[in-house]
Amino acid sequence: EIVFDKVAKDFGGGPVVRDVSLTIPEGEFCVFVGPSGCGKSTLLRMVAGLESITAGEIRIGGKRANDIPPAKRGAALVFQTYALFPHMTIAENLGFGLKIRGAAKAERDAKVLGVAKDLELDGLLERRPRELSGGQRQRVAIGRAMLRDPQVFLFDEPLSNLDAALRVHTRLRIAKLHQDTGRSMIYVTHDQVEAMTLADRIVLLNTGERTAREGSLAQIGTPLELYHHPRSLFVAGFIGAPR
Ligand code: ATP
Ligand code: MG
Repeated sequence: EIVFDKVAKDFGGGPVVRDVSLTIPEGEFCVFVGPSGCGKSTLLRMVAGLESITAGEIRIGGKRANDIPPAKRGAALVFQTYALFPHMTIAENLGFGLKIRGAAKAERDAKVLGVAKDLELDGLLERRPRELSGGQRQRVAIGRAMLRDPQVFLFDEPLSNLDAALRVHTRLRIAKLHQDTGRSMIYVTHDQVEAMTLADRIVLLNTGERTAREGSLAQIGTPLELYHHPRSLFVAGFIGAPR
């Protein structure tokens, strides 16, 4: 379970996230949507421990995130920009987390090959990241998160660099990952199809027009609730429901 309790973030130029309170139960697939700049990536980065929390707190499995070092939070973040190790081969990038955890080479190799086949990367294992296309790198980043076997997966627009066919394929793969592992997932996207098909619940964050009273959350609900019962024009417009 991940709890956001009145979470706020200010980089120094005024709040970019304010008063976010939200509980993501164990195993939920939660999709964050909202206009560019509304704070989606910032929220993920705060869960992962890559960004400090200005006010309020985030609790992961009952523990305050601030008390757990980023590497021990059990959160794997798949970035918009992949963040692969440039000097390592794809096989080494994929196996890195297993190696850190002390898995034997034979086990590592077998798991890496399994995930590589799954993500259609098996012909690329001896290459370096710079020798891969953007979409291929993106899939390596997803594979690396899978092999870390985290408590929670954090995806920040993981399909945005893929072509249409791979986007569908990888989306289905992520849905299967959720089914197979039963882990909680927080998934940021601008794509309505991704949001509607993947989400147990959608969290819609507000734009800059929010008032001080409102906080950052416009509405939380299942895809159908947001679609059929948008609480405001902003929600209706964003989810694409008839007005
Ligand atoms: P997008 O959909 O474009 O990815 P986002 O919802 O992920 O947007 P964030 O990246 O979380 O948005 O940024 C939220 C706000 O915080 C933006 O106004 C951004 O300019 C600001 N911001 C993000 N990182 C920093 C930083 N390191 N220093 C100062 N401001 C920042
Ligand atoms: Mg972002």
